[in-house]
Amino acid sequence: MSKKLTVVTCPQCGASVEWGEQSPYRPFCSKKCQMIDFGTWANEENAIPGAPDMLDSDGWSEEHH
Ligand SMILES: [Zn+2]
Repeated sequence: MSKKLTVVTCPQCGASVEWGEQSPYRPFCSKKCQMIDFGTWANEENAIPGAPDMLDSDGWSEEHH
C-alpha cells in the first residue's frame, strides 16, 4: 500500500513541509517561520496612520506657549 504524503513549501524559507499532524505549523516548516510571517502583516497593521491611541491623549496641546 502506498500512503501518499502531501508536501508543501514553506512560504517563508522554502523548506519542504509534510502536510499532516506532524507539522502543526503548516504550511510553515516551524513556529519561527510562522511568527515571521505573522509579524510581517502585524507590522503593516501598525503602520496605518492615525492610530486611535495618538488621538486620545489628553494633556497634549499645540497651543502651549
Ligand atoms: Zn520555514
